[in-house]
Amino acid sequence: MFSKILIANRGEIACRVARTCRRLGIATVAVYSDADADAMHVDLCDEAWRLGPPPARDSYLRGDAILEAAARTGAQAIHPGYGFLSENAAFARACAEADVVFIGPTPEAIEAMGSKSESKRLMERAGVPLVPGYHGADQSDAALLAAAENIGYPVLVKASAGGGGKGMRVVNTPADLPAAIEGARREAASAFGDDTLLVEKFLGAPRHVELQVFGDTHGTVVHLFERDCSIQRRHQKVIEEAPAPNLPAEVRAALAQAGVAAAQAIGYVGAGTVEFLYQDGRFYFIEMNTRLQVEHPVTEMITGQDLVEWQLRVAAGEPLPLTQADLSVSGHAIEARVYAEDPAGGFLPSIGTLRHLRPPTEGPHVRVDTGVRPKDEVSMHYDPMIAKLVVWDADRLSALRRLRTALERYQVVGVATNLEFLGGVAAHPAFGRGEVGTRFIDTHEADLFPETTAADDGVLALAALDVLLRRQRQAGTLAAASGDPHSPWHVPNGWRLNDDNHQTLVFRDESGTQAVTVHYRPTGYRLDLPGGTRLARGEIDASGDLVSDIDGFRRRVTVVRQGLDLVILDRGRHHRLTLDDPAARAADRDPGAGGLVAPMPGKVTRVLVEAGQTVDKGDPLMVLEAMKMEHTITAPADGSVTTVHFETGDQVADGAPLLDFEAKGG
Ligand code: ADP
Repeated sequence: MFSKILIANRGEIACRVARTCRRLGIATVAVYSDADADAMHVDLCDEAWRLGPPPARDSYLRGDAILEAAARTGAQAIHPGYGFLSENAAFARACAEADVVFIGPTPEAIEAMGSKSESKRLMERAGVPLVPGYHGADQSDAALLAAAENIGYPVLVKASAGGGGKGMRVVNTPADLPAAIEGARREAASAFGDDTLLVEKFLGAPRHVELQVFGDTHGTVVHLFERDCSIQRRHQKVIEEAPAPNLPAEVRAALAQAGVAAAQAIGYVGAGTVEFLYQDGRFYFIEMNTRLQVEHPVTEMITGQDLVEWQLRVAAGEPLPLTQADLSVSGHAIEARVYAEDPAGGFLPSIGTLRHLRPPTEGPHVRVDTGVRPKDEVSMHYDPMIAKLVVWDADRLSALRRLRTALERYQVVGVATNLEFLGGVAAHPAFGRGEVGTRFIDTHEADLFPETTAADDGVLALAALDVLLRRQRQAGTLAAASGDPHSPWHVPNGWRLNDDNHQTLVFRDESGTQAVTVHYRPTGYRLDLPGGTRLARGEIDASGDLVSDIDGFRRRVTVVRQGLDLVILDRGRHHRLTLDDPAARAADRDPGAGGLVAPMPGKVTRVLVEAGQTVDKGDPLMVLEAMKMEHTITAPADGSVTTVHFETGDQVADGAPLLDFEAKGG
């Protein structure tokens, strides 16, 4: 076995590989781009090597730099993870030439399977059923048109070198084919440098079922059962599970046999996935991926195996840890991919700072594979996946219940996420019945994309309570600092001379503004809400959560504040509100736990104070520039600056703490 390996990847998969290495006592070398200098995967590895600037082609795709890192650090093998160089035959070859083990199949296997056309020819010879189609060498328009005619419409035009759904076009009529061919060629050439196309019968309502295979250098191939990955958006997986639900035993067995035959046909070594579409009782090979798949954890959960450990053992020349007869399925596992993306906006990636990030607690039933921490950036340079949430239980319905609860507990603020969307799929009765298919999201669109509605009374009550309790706390701090803690001016209950005892809070959201009138009561607040009156009280606990009691109903919710914006995270629902209260604007700017935060992303143009300096309320401390406009950060009170976090010229993210500040006597 190796004593040191290099992990040529980033994010959750680099972290996941590092964990197995640590367990096995193998030292690890991380590689990183400038965007990832402080990333989790860098911290998890024993050593880390800088590759270059953020774009992947200048960093994670630089095979030469990675091989240099391996040579300089003495790494004996390279784990490529998935994506980046994991299916790059030239890189696998360069590793061999540099005498470093590539943890993956041979360059020949990568090449053979890297082309969908070539792999279909191979599978045809091995007797594996294919989606009816054309994968020939004649790439003329006439040949492709004739093929489509033969296959029968609708057809799917695919890039042979394709991946990630790129270069794929559904064509319903012959008239649309020429344009689709042209478009697919262009996309394929620019994405993969290869414009070879294939044409397939477009199956109307298939399921995506794939087989995990493993081969060793001693000629043995086994499978670790199937996964269903039918829940997809933009032809890409978002929820995967193992075993596949509602799959007849004879189909399962035939699929396993075909997958193993496929791997054997090319003398496959290492982890691989043979992908099939399944429709009307029949399955058809579509492609083989010659790497560890994103969704491998569901297989690990039902087999109790660590596939990265298997990869390492096989790469080191050891035989497979178990025989086919030793392998069995226990229970059911489901994985949901948590993405920084906007489901309502066509699932486009959302970038930004993870201002608040709290995954559910891990345990025997819940696993969170992630590569990000609070305050990390989801950048435009890489895949916007935040985490893979994986659950396991004895049967599918129990696992599904675990998934729903874990999704509800997953808290992310700062970027748009698909968490609520995933929750909607997990709660959908058709998904509960295992009626999965690649068109699931389209079919159930009406249920999965609910219209946004105005905040209801329950949400408004929580928002108002949070604002009031935080003000109370702040007033308490100010009173303590003022030297006259008993002054009536510090009582945060709206008490004013000649004032009646109430005030109004106005909240704004996408659907308009709503007012809450607050009447102060000795034990809490009476809230006049649009739909009636409620009695609210509670406290902010040590973790910053709101422990609320509204009309005697107690529960804990998380309210993330930034300035006047509130995000209320309540059992998987995210509600965004803005406090629209001019009088309160100044008082409610949350100084971020004793610090002053950037009100927007920008650049520091001037730093006017140093740590330790005493300042008067209103003194300018720092000047930021954003979108050609200057913004001055001023002292919120008399006091002193304890720390300055940035220098002139630094870029700051929205909400970044700029200076730590201590109010006089505070
Ligand atoms: P990529 O390698 O770009 O991810 P795949 O060939 O693996 O492309 O296909 C991705 C997804 O596209 C499949 O899981 C399936 O949902 C859909 N798909 C692919 N081929 C067909 C087909 N012939 N008919 C219907 N859907 C298909």
